[in-house]
Amino acid sequence: MTAETMIGISLPDVDVWSERVVVALGQNPGLFTGPGTNTYLVGTGNRRILLDTGDGCPEYLPVLAGALERMGCEIQEIVLTHGHPDHQGGVASVMERFGPLRVSKLPWDDYDAPYPFEPVPISDGAVIRAEGATLRAVHTPGHAEDHLCYVLEEEGSIFSGDNVLGVGTTVIPAQGGSLLDYMKSLERLLDEAPTAIYPAHGPRIADGKAKIREYIDHRNRREEQIIEAMGAGLDRIPEIVKRIYAAYPESLHAAAAQSVGSHLLKLEGEQRARRSGDEVLTARWRLA
Ligand SMILES: [Zn+2]
Repeated sequence: MTAETMIGISLPDVDVWSERVVVALGQNPGLFTGPGTNTYLVGTGNRRILLDTGDGCPEYLPVLAGALERMGCEIQEIVLTHGHPDHQGGVASVMERFGPLRVSKLPWDDYDAPYPFEPVPISDGAVIRAEGATLRAVHTPGHAEDHLCYVLEEEGSIFSGDNVLGVGTTVIPAQGGSLLDYMKSLERLLDEAPTAIYPAHGPRIADGKAKIREYIDHRNRREEQIIEAMGAGLDRIPEIVKRIYAAYPESLHAAAAQSVGSHLLKLEGEQRARRSGDEVLTARWRLA
């Protein structure tokens, strides 16, 4: 069985992506989750780390059970990239089915409050081990404040969570997101010189370094376009969106406005842009 998506990518429910990495699809495909959230069994032994848990939909549990059976292993513990519901939402149902498990994440009250478990707090540099796998946490805020990527030391690969995706680009949400932080996080990941990247959505990325560079270039190009538009006298986000995203369907313009807003906040943070008006989306913006 495969998950179909609106963007036409389908992935098998369970797949072996390396000697140490098995992916089990979260069964939550959608516009923002692509083929769904990738959850990973990490390690080589009969007790492996479960990295992320999907959104808690019941269809995921038999898929996870099938992956465990196929690999002849059980879950040692749960580790999370961040607190968004399509990563953290499945923790409770996984524990209902497989018994109580340690859950590690960088705590963040805004995201964690709704969930009925106390995570073990971890942060940048934390190391979590299973047989055949050493995960090292790298704090990478931008998409979410509590976001951790994990270097798989044995491979030099990275579990990138929502920071680098196998399909499309990362959303920088107005709440909890920061493009300024995100760009720093991408540079930080590039410094790790990853081989492969295992994203939280979409297929395995064979050349991690190239993909991160592509992401950085994409954002820099977007920023240049916005600065050009403002230089041409456009001072409101809807006008800027209309100019830059002219080739895209109008249905994407609301998301594009969010993206332009996050760029303007970054420029403001760098004191390269100023606004009059409190609301990011409706303010008048000008170059500083
Ligand atoms: Zn997320």
